Amino acid sequence: MTNNKITKDTSCMDDFDKNSITTDQAIEQIFNTISPIAENEIIPIRESINRILGENIESKINVPSARNSAMDGYAINKKDIPKEKTKTLKIIGKSLAGSPFTKPIHNGECVRIMTGAVMPVEVDTVVIQENVSISDTNTEIIIDNNTKPEANVRQAGEDILAGDIVLKKGKNLTPADIGLLASLGLSQIPVTRKLKVAFFSTGNELRSIGENLAVGEIYDSNRYTLYAMLSRLNVEIIDLGVIKDDVELLKQAFYKATEQADLLITSGGVSVGEADYVKDILIDQGNMNFWKVAIKPGRPLTYGKLGDTLFFGLPGNPVSVMVTFYQFVQPAIKKLSGDSSDLPMAIKIPSATRLKKKPGRVEFQRGIIKKDNDNNVVVEKTGPQGSGILRSMSDANCFIILPLDSETIEPGDLVEVQLFNGVI
Ligand code: AMP
Ligand code: MG
Repeated sequence: MTNNKITKDTSCMDDFDKNSITTDQAIEQIFNTISPIAENEIIPIRESINRILGENIESKINVPSARNSAMDGYAINKKDIPKEKTKTLKIIGKSLAGSPFTKPIHNGECVRIMTGAVMPVEVDTVVIQENVSISDTNTEIIIDNNTKPEANVRQAGEDILAGDIVLKKGKNLTPADIGLLASLGLSQIPVTRKLKVAFFSTGNELRSIGENLAVGEIYDSNRYTLYAMLSRLNVEIIDLGVIKDDVELLKQAFYKATEQADLLITSGGVSVGEADYVKDILIDQGNMNFWKVAIKPGRPLTYGKLGDTLFFGLPGNPVSVMVTFYQFVQPAIKKLSGDSSDLPMAIKIPSATRLKKKPGRVEFQRGIIKKDNDNNVVVEKTGPQGSGILRSMSDANCFIILPLDSETIEPGDLVEVQLFNGVI
């Protein structure tokens, strides 16, 4: 792990900082320092939504297990399809889903068949009921020379063959995956164990919900956004509360976290202010990188390890917390838990608004993707973009990512937009 020592303190007002690393370099360092947890557990299939598959799943059966009808109609043998005009076939029985027809079927005969019912061996084609004429006595059908041979039949193993790898280790399980696993008859699923993630807020000015605010005090909101984002990532949450800007109390909280968590996240106290102790304690006690990442918001960021516990010291400003969580903590959690799903996707669409920007940092402005008056998809920024203005996140459905060197964007310019993926 490289240690980016700071030689000069740079004010957050400066946009270019030679000590900052790029977002890509930060992600690379995170990935280089994390190995996925290797422990699996077996859980009931119904509890496996959003869990990470711990092993490849191989099918022991064919799905469907037998050749069956894809439509309601009549099962015939293609040899009975007339070369011209029509042919009359005798209906000798029924095959229903769950009640197959088991008697022999001869030339000139057919069976009534329903969707999902097993196809008897002697037949290979289903004529849909709309395409036949039925005799008054309901004992015969008339088919014509337009009947398509082998139509409307689902082959055994058409969906899955016995021996196929159906889902790969690392898959973040979706409702479709759970249905797929159920179709194989599996009731218990191997998944990676949940990560244990601890977090606390730092700051003498913070009060918890329910307390009265004195002048200069604010409610601690970061713990609630962190709690909510972690809930969506399906980890085990350990809330260690608010810790004052006090070296001893902070050291105790770090110790408590390392005793029980795979990952610790703090907010606040990583900047260069007088009460910003987090990075000093970490440099002293752990294997730390104090980073400045060339992003806005969220430049000061601490990353490293305390014993076996991975550590992220996020900035204090509420928007910075969400941006850095999404860009750095989320990928770390995914890699740690063995989740192989893609990181949030970015697409390019026109900006509806002018976006002020100076070169020097990648900006994560908050945007709303919407349709303009001409029905074109565009992105619009969500009002004032200060790093303390949480409304800008609450109103948004995406980040507008403006590259390091870019300058002010004019309406109509294409911008990169990263969708929120159900974590924010
Ligand atoms: P810091 O990084 O500790 O200097 O904090 C930067 C800004 O974020 C300050 O205005 C803090 O009051 C604010 N802040 C820090 N922690 C929180 C929190 N948990 N909830 C809301 N605001 C916070
Ligand atoms: Mg603080």
